[in-house]
Amino acid sequence: MIGPKQERGVYIHVPFCQQACSYCNFYFVTGQRDHTDFITAAIREIKESSEFFGEDRIIHSIYFGGGTPSRLTLKELESILNQVHSTFTVSTDAEITLEANPEDITKDIVNAWFNLGVNRISLGIQSFNDKLLALMRRAHDGKEALHAASIIKQSSFRNFSFDLIIGQIHQDLEMLNQDLRYLESFKPPHLSTYLLTVEEKTHLHKEIQRKRLPDVADRTQEEHYLHLMKWAEEWKYTHYETSSFTLDGYHARHNANYWNHSPYLGIGPSAHSFDGKKRYWNSRNLNEYIASATASRKEECLSRIDFINEKIMLGLRQSKGIVIDHLGLSEIERRALDKSLQAVNPLHIEYDSRKIRLSNEGKLYADGIASTLFL
Ligand code: SF4
Repeated sequence: MIGPKQERGVYIHVPFCQQACSYCNFYFVTGQRDHTDFITAAIREIKESSEFFGEDRIIHSIYFGGGTPSRLTLKELESILNQVHSTFTVSTDAEITLEANPEDITKDIVNAWFNLGVNRISLGIQSFNDKLLALMRRAHDGKEALHAASIIKQSSFRNFSFDLIIGQIHQDLEMLNQDLRYLESFKPPHLSTYLLTVEEKTHLHKEIQRKRLPDVADRTQEEHYLHLMKWAEEWKYTHYETSSFTLDGYHARHNANYWNHSPYLGIGPSAHSFDGKKRYWNSRNLNEYIASATASRKEECLSRIDFINEKIMLGLRQSKGIVIDHLGLSEIERRALDKSLQAVNPLHIEYDSRKIRLSNEGKLYADGIASTLFL
């Protein structure tokens, strides 16, 4: 059920990418493509979802993710944004984020996005290091990353985030430090940092299977993550979620909806939605999506136990942790949780009768610890 004070967000998945990054398992298509059918389908899906949040149509965030939303023309972006505005009531202070890749950044396009009402950019830098960018098969090099970061820093955008991937194959601490020094010069108000994960069916996975690349080293990942946390503390970043850091309170509002179990509507192929009760997901195939949009949505009703387990997982990822009373446990479940807590390495977790949160070291094992605590 949607609570009266909960924020609501609309996510638009733009599935176009210049090329396939070696580690990526998001849904995307590559090559020069005509976007017209996608835009038509997305607009139709937004219109058909007007009742998604019930009678109250106020939304507090719009997020263009992907894929690579910066590959849309200004007109295409505008037409989707206009449809969101005419279907929903976008709150006056709504966060409107656009994910962008460095190779698409020019002064003119960044200004045009701002004038269109976008008020937050999330830039997929990943690294400034040419060797690592080539290994990741990114479409940009270090020079383009620097150029894009400078344009955004000097633009009208006050709220922007840089993505960084750490713990990479062949990345040593000096390379990480070099990336961090560049960050120091830009001081992005928000940082999203991810440990490289090797997902099945990706190019990276195949390369490791064929022994052309070594596997990701756990020790490197641990070392990089702990180093990053130390660096972030020195530079006054608040580490408010496992992968997210902010300066001066520029928290990611849209992402917080996911972490706080707030409702969100997902538009586009592979997009997920949640209405407070059920989860929905769209076809992970562009042609199928274009042909049927809302009709291709599948749904699943979450059980009470699913909800509790999700709250445990999402709560552990956030620095505020889990408020045990908010889990709504029976006495038997509460005792089971207490028992599971004792099975977690005490160096990884801090808890009392009210709250549970991870220690800095524990943040490295958030998912594993969550599954130990699941009912
Ligand atoms: S640009 Fe982003 S979505 Fe596209 S392939 Fe690379 S990581 Fe995946």
